[in-house]
Amino acid sequence: MLVVFAAIAAALGSQLLASSSSTAASLIDVPRREHRASRTEHRGALGEAGGAVPDGATVFDREIPGVANLDPALLDALRQAAVDAATEGIGLVVDSGWRSPEYQNQLLREAVTEYGSEEEAARWVATARTSAHVSGDAVDIGPVAATVWLSEHGAWYGLCQIYGNEPWHYELRPEAVEHACPPMYADPTHDPRMQP
Ligand SMILES: [Zn+2]
Repeated sequence: MLVVFAAIAAALGSQLLASSSSTAASLIDVPRREHRASRTEHRGALGEAGGAVPDGATVFDREIPGVANLDPALLDALRQAAVDAATEGIGLVVDSGWRSPEYQNQLLREAVTEYGSEEEAARWVATARTSAHVSGDAVDIGPVAATVWLSEHGAWYGLCQIYGNEPWHYELRPEAVEHACPPMYADPTHDPRMQP
């Protein structure tokens, strides 16, 4: 009996070891199936394929179109920053990244409803034609601890906050590595790229 118990305990122990080391690996670079399974309410151009990002996605989730379709240079900078932030216990989460034009327009329609007018919505959500998300050049990062970390260290990677009213919205400004980030626009309506 004792021998059997010892064998079971040993087997359980090695299983625990194996599962804890694979958990450590999954923190870095493994698909997050558990999140994707719960997101079936939106499909097609308005779902994950159109840029909707499941909760808790990271810059390493390369099978998620909202992450994978980001500009490669932006994604490289984000991954370097995420690795360094992780050493300080800060996790970078992608709340939104690349968006299809259809998904962007959906967000704009929702913003017009929420803010009551197109003028007010324009302070927060761009059109599909002007959005840096649609071109894959912008990412919305969370949680707050991560945006605070990026506000202090982002320029070192060329990652800059662009709008004063959107502390989560980052774009790549390679010149920031040497010259610091450019001054922010108060909100997107002041950005020349957003003019009709
Ligand atoms: Zn954004």
